Amino acid sequence: MNTPDTIELSQEASLETSSKINQKFVFSFHEGDGKNKQLLGGKGANLCEMTQIGLNVPPGFVISTEACLTYLADPGRQLPEGVLEKVKSQMEKVESATGKSFGDPQNPLLVSVRSGSALSMPGMMDTILNLGLNSETLQGLIQQTKNERFGYDAYRRFIQLFGKVALGVPDEKFDTIFEEVKHKAGVKVDIGLSAENLQEISQRFLEVVLEHTGRPFPENVFEQLEIAIKAVFNSWMGKRAVDYRREFNITPQMANGTAVNVVAMVFGNMGNDSATGVGFTRDPGTGENVMFGEYLVNAQGEDVVAGIRTPKTVSLLAEEMPDLYRQLEDLRDKLESHYKEVQDFEYTIEKGILYCLQTRNGKMNATAMVRTSVEMAKERLLTKEQALLRIKPEMLEQLLHPRLDSKHQSEPLAQGLPASPGAASGQCVFDADRAELLGRAGQKVILVREETKPEDIHGFFASQGVLTSRGGKTSHAAVVARGMGKPCVAGAEGIHVDVKLRQAKIGEKILHEGDNITIDGGTGCVYLGVIPTVEPTFSDELKTLLMWADENARLKVMANADTPNDAKNALEYGAVGIGLCRTERMFNAPERLPIVLEMILADTPEEREVPLNKLLPIQRQDFKEIFTTMAPRPVTVRLLDPPIHEFLPTEDELREELQHLRHLKETAVGVANLFNSLRLLHAENEGTQTQLPFNDKGVELIEQAIAKKELMRKKVHELHEVNPMLGHRGVRLGLTYPEIYKMQIQAILEAAAECQQANIDVRPEIMVPQVCASEELVRVKSFVDELRKKIEEEKGIKLVFKFGTMIEVVRACMQADELAKQAEFFSFGTNDLTQATFSFSREDAENKFLPFYAENNILENNPFEVLDAKGVGKLMQIAVEWGRKTNPELKVGICGEHGGQSESIKFCHELGLTYVSCSGPRVPVARLAAAHAKLGESKNVSL
Ligand code: ADP
Ligand code: MG
Ligand code: MG
Repeated sequence: MNTPDTIELSQEASLETSSKINQKFVFSFHEGDGKNKQLLGGKGANLCEMTQIGLNVPPGFVISTEACLTYLADPGRQLPEGVLEKVKSQMEKVESATGKSFGDPQNPLLVSVRSGSALSMPGMMDTILNLGLNSETLQGLIQQTKNERFGYDAYRRFIQLFGKVALGVPDEKFDTIFEEVKHKAGVKVDIGLSAENLQEISQRFLEVVLEHTGRPFPENVFEQLEIAIKAVFNSWMGKRAVDYRREFNITPQMANGTAVNVVAMVFGNMGNDSATGVGFTRDPGTGENVMFGEYLVNAQGEDVVAGIRTPKTVSLLAEEMPDLYRQLEDLRDKLESHYKEVQDFEYTIEKGILYCLQTRNGKMNATAMVRTSVEMAKERLLTKEQALLRIKPEMLEQLLHPRLDSKHQSEPLAQGLPASPGAASGQCVFDADRAELLGRAGQKVILVREETKPEDIHGFFASQGVLTSRGGKTSHAAVVARGMGKPCVAGAEGIHVDVKLRQAKIGEKILHEGDNITIDGGTGCVYLGVIPTVEPTFSDELKTLLMWADENARLKVMANADTPNDAKNALEYGAVGIGLCRTERMFNAPERLPIVLEMILADTPEEREVPLNKLLPIQRQDFKEIFTTMAPRPVTVRLLDPPIHEFLPTEDELREELQHLRHLKETAVGVANLFNSLRLLHAENEGTQTQLPFNDKGVELIEQAIAKKELMRKKVHELHEVNPMLGHRGVRLGLTYPEIYKMQIQAILEAAAECQQANIDVRPEIMVPQVCASEELVRVKSFVDELRKKIEEEKGIKLVFKFGTMIEVVRACMQADELAKQAEFFSFGTNDLTQATFSFSREDAENKFLPFYAENNILENNPFEVLDAKGVGKLMQIAVEWGRKTNPELKVGICGEHGGQSESIKFCHELGLTYVSCSGPRVPVARLAAAHAKLGESKNVSL
């Protein structure tokens, strides 16, 4: 049978054909390269690897993804030449390894035919079990095992899977028969069925196949094998798999074609000393270093994940089969020490012997990733660098997911398994299509199902969370939700879903579509209504991990914070300073706004002095608190930036208010006149002297209010700008109304002075926004110098602070060398700089044309989300270079949203910036991204 790789080829054969025939398509588990997932698929490569490191894997072989692609490219849909011969010779090796033979009526070999591409796509492609059964080999299997029930159980499973996957018979046809027989036999679960029941089922399944395909079920085992291999190859182009690849942007570079794994069957359904299970080497929900998983006694393959019976947690195995539990622990240790990564594995126990059927890197949520990274580094399975690189920075965001507020105690409606942590609320919907429809319409929905299937995937995308009434922590719903970082409660058995009526019953209670529920994937509880959530706190592991990140990073991470409270949070998130403190945010408090209005409405600097004198102590106090909170870290205070009319009402609002006041005045005057007439009448009747006319305070009050509003309207009108973002704002405002900037500078310096006198080591930095010319800085600096001298003399101290500029105007980049003569630091305002570089106004761009640009690949990314390295980045590069030429000590940073985005952070690292500053909750992401940027430079750290 051993055909040589090259069969006789005529000399004229084209190069292409000869290379294909020379190509090796089939690899035994002993020879396949465990690293080559592109060629062998993830499952195949790992089956080879596990075989080669001595784990107990049933014998088998892999047909490569290249064979799949060659097959799919052939319009005649024939397996590539030579493949069948190779398969036959490999089958002979499996036969001799197992002592059974394929198609043998006495002692038949059965195999599974399993899909597996380079990337794991759970449940997207097909696998067929128990292949090799026919009417004759079935009898052989029964005689060999002396177990009729087992024989028919395997047979009915094979007919159904093969019928569905390879022959296209609808699953429902089989399910209906199965349920009918179960009902007739009066049993609830499959293990209650007798051999006779299963025999009946098998018989009826065969009839269904004949009826549906018009041909009898194939008896020839090699024909079965060939059809199955083709069916698995075809499943690569199946709708489910294609949709999945599109949704997750899986390109051919990442995974191209599926391999086929042919594996000798081992049986978990041979009785009570047999079982099948799935496991994780650590808990994928918490990361705890304990064996995690579920198993079912006397079951096969998919039973655990399909939610047919609710499986047992693996710790019970320690009691049920202690010897096997030890074997399982040994397997777990070997897998982890070899792969140096948490493994998600599948196993089967056949009559007391443990076989490993699959392993892959475990998908975990952020909590588990952080904990396992830290612990595996401490166990020396990984280096600290590897532990850091293992986690995508953006993933840490998940840790900032809300949890249920424990103050709002309420009785759970139902209880399931905590399958994917986090809390979510939304309206319940009972099928994936409705979830998608409502989700698209902007509703928050929770998908509630009996169990989920791969075809429900679009419903997951649309939902806040998923709730199922059947299945365990390794059910489809749980695995998919964890992968997406969405909360999931699985196996909440009290819930009875009725998809047709769009409702679910929980005891007496009926939930209708649209009713709000809350699920807590951390506890498994389900509640009626929307329950408030709270922000989570940092775990010790996260603190450790981020400490390692800081040790490895060169970029410093600061936070944007506008209030003392923000500053406290920033410290908790691990910011090493405040990179942007926006003073205008301090103006917006309700008790302060009237003073700010007074300041704006003033006509002369003298008039303006009164409100400024009121604002001075307020700002000074704010700064003192923020500086003190952050001491001894730097706090960069930006002088007033937005156009001042942002503090004022709009002209329309004022017009309406004025109208209302005038109306009021008319009424008031009418009332006053009425009173006057009444008094006059009274005086006449009594013959007394005429009284003075009624002096109406009310009318006077209203008139004052009208005058004030009129003034404001005039002012608003005066301040109106065609293009406020490019108008009278930032340093332009600071120079034309110098008293405002002077007040702010005075507040900063006095706050610093008071702190210094109290021996608090503070580091204020004064930052000027919207600068385009060095002369602007010269002038603001002169205000600073003047005030500094005054305060230093008064207090007899030497003030310590820095003076610098925002770089957010294109001209500032071009003038960086000049600006650096005046500034001790630069901070790129990349939001404004991006608008200026593209001449896009952000709102208009994001609403009107950027989505089109992204879809049509005109721009790679939304430049407001990912820093545009090619344009904005070039300007930044020039500014850094020229600025540092003037002043090599120049500190350069970035503030704005890009400062918290990992790709942009990498770019900032490469530019040689000193720091990035971002919103508080992004700080952990930025710290890890900064470490990644640095570690990415050195070649010797890899995973
Ligand atoms: P998936 O990619 O959907 O996980 P698999 O190819 O891993 O599909 O097969 C699903 C399940 O079938 C496995 O977890 C395992 O329990 C069972 N199975 C596959 N091959 C065999 C085999 N040779 N012997 C016993 N069970 C098997
Ligand atoms: Mg599997
Ligand atoms: Mg700006």
